[in-house]
Amino acid sequence: MKEQNKKTENCMICGEELAYLTTAIPAACIYCGKAESANIHCPSGHYVCNECHASDSIKIITQFCLSSTSKNPMEMAKTIMKHPTMPMHGPEHHAMIAAVLVTAYKNLTGKATDEDIMEAIRRGATVPGGYCGLYGTDAAAIATGIAMSTVLKATPLTDHERRTANMMTSRALAAIASNRGVRCCKRSTFVALESAIQYFREVLGTELEYIPVSKLKCEHSFRNKQCAKADCRFYTGETE
Ligand SMILES: [Zn+2]
Ligand SMILES: [Zn+2]
Repeated sequence: MKEQNKKTENCMICGEELAYLTTAIPAACIYCGKAESANIHCPSGHYVCNECHASDSIKIITQFCLSSTSKNPMEMAKTIMKHPTMPMHGPEHHAMIAAVLVTAYKNLTGKATDEDIMEAIRRGATVPGGYCGLYGTDAAAIATGIAMSTVLKATPLTDHERRTANMMTSRALAAIASNRGVRCCKRSTFVALESAIQYFREVLGTELEYIPVSKLKCEHSFRNKQCAKADCRFYTGETE
């Protein structure tokens, strides 16, 4: 694997803290050369496009979900987030959340396919990083809507299926928005999955497995410079 030098915090080239701009600037991807406008960049000039940022992790997420027999989306997310290609924060989480939900649904009910898992990953990977702050919608919530849309085969032209997928996003988004602190992709992942497991039960009658609130603890606080610590209910209180 070629990712031995990839930094999984901040800039993936040099590890420097990224700047988030409220107005996009022109940037060229250091890997594929694609020129685009970007709100996120490294002070040393490094820019990595969403596709190149996430490609290693997307492979891992795909391989893991296609071979998993788990019915527990939280356990799956915790395992994937421990993989060295998964950064502390980043758009990789969007594809991961959609993928583990569809995978758990498939393994529990047999009503989804490997193609559905790959479709959920494809859609999740199209939502760029920084969405929570710049677009007013945390993409972890969108990812739950993607999962619901995928399992219900919703399209813009379906009624109940489209509404249910939108309601899924809205439920997860309300739960995420009530958290204090700056963005945290781990916290948003846990909250989005909690909301999804509950709403899947309400509308689909599925009993997806889950980790109880008292045992759902973050294992990544030590590498998150902006961790909300005591303000985050997933914080273990362990020192860095
Ligand atoms: Zn850099
Ligand atoms: Zn690129």
